[in-house]
Amino acid sequence: MSYLVLARKWRPQKFDDMTGQEHVVRTVANAIKMDRVAHAYLFCGPRGVGKTTAARLLAKALNCEKGPTANPCGECRACTEIAAGTSVDVAEIDGASNNGVENVREIRENAKYLPQRDRHKIYIIDEVHMLSGAAFNALLKTLEEPPGHVKFIFATTEAHKLPDTILSRCQRHNFRRIPAARMLQRLQEICKAEGAGISDRSLSLVVRQSEGGMRDALSLLDQILASCGANPTDEEVAEALGAIDRTMVQDFAEAMVRKDAKRVLERVEEVFNRGLDLKRLAEELALQLRHLFVTKTLGQAPSELAESEQKALLALAKEAETAQLTRLFDVVHGCIWDVSRAAQPRLALEMALLKAIQLSPGGSIPELLARVDRLAAGLPQGDGAAKNTTGAPGGRSSSANFRA
Ligand SMILES: [Zn+2]
Repeated sequence: MSYLVLARKWRPQKFDDMTGQEHVVRTVANAIKMDRVAHAYLFCGPRGVGKTTAARLLAKALNCEKGPTANPCGECRACTEIAAGTSVDVAEIDGASNNGVENVREIRENAKYLPQRDRHKIYIIDEVHMLSGAAFNALLKTLEEPPGHVKFIFATTEAHKLPDTILSRCQRHNFRRIPAARMLQRLQEICKAEGAGISDRSLSLVVRQSEGGMRDALSLLDQILASCGANPTDEEVAEALGAIDRTMVQDFAEAMVRKDAKRVLERVEEVFNRGLDLKRLAEELALQLRHLFVTKTLGQAPSELAESEQKALLALAKEAETAQLTRLFDVVHGCIWDVSRAAQPRLALEMALLKAIQLSPGGSIPELLARVDRLAAGLPQGDGAAKNTTGAPGGRSSSANFRA
């Protein structure tokens, strides 16, 4: 038997299996139970979060020989054919390549006839926002007075491109990006079942790169297993994903917080020599500083990260000051665009990182405030402060202002 990609092998076969879309599943399942299924559904949301899968499940639920039921059997002819995309009464249409008025007219003509075998004639139109204006008009006529045996399920990543007249005739459901912690949990389950030993740290990398889309996450997992086998090290996974190793990013953040310019420059050289994308490095660093800032603020690290990473973040957050982290983040985040456009990305990145280190305040805010208080009270200053006030005219005049 040929290899079945993970995204297909693990495609949910029941509503209950749909990760992260519980709000949609509940409403649709209830509608089926109460026999209040709308004649047109619109599933919107980012790519790869389960819109088409949900559309097929709904089709099964409506046409299952043991249905209509919220728990289609998955075994009858209707169910298996829908899963395989070969059902005579369920048409899956790609809106991007069938976007003309003639395509919709054909649907309209066919919709008049009763289903050949099953309960309903179901049209699943993917990327429905790609239809032309004339095609939408033609579709509208059918949506206004649909024959009782016809159901439409539209899926789109860009609901704002649909005419209001269409929107108002559909029951709309918004699919969400799958929360990172939920996705990590699901990937752990799948790895276990597949006998793959991939560390949580590497799985978090997959979670981050897939940006909330389960299909992308599973494709990345395929990619890892294909190039590194079933028990890859973290470095191998990072290499396979073209990503920058997490340990490296953590090390960068640590060097920056500790103002270790030498180490920062060495690391940039290392990344540069390995031929990795420097813009990607800047993005990863900005994200790491964001995590650090969040950890500092909330007193706990983001839960989607692996446990070892959470520990490292907590420890580093204790060393850093809030003002310092804000500054580091500002400069690093601000340089992403420059690095991507620069004729010499390495120079742009190095200068930005050094600037970030130089500009981030050394003393903590409470410490600085205490110094100002002492100045205001006219108390004698410590060594460093005394040098500052005599050396800089600004310092003298501001303390004079305080006295006045
Ligand atoms: Zn069935």
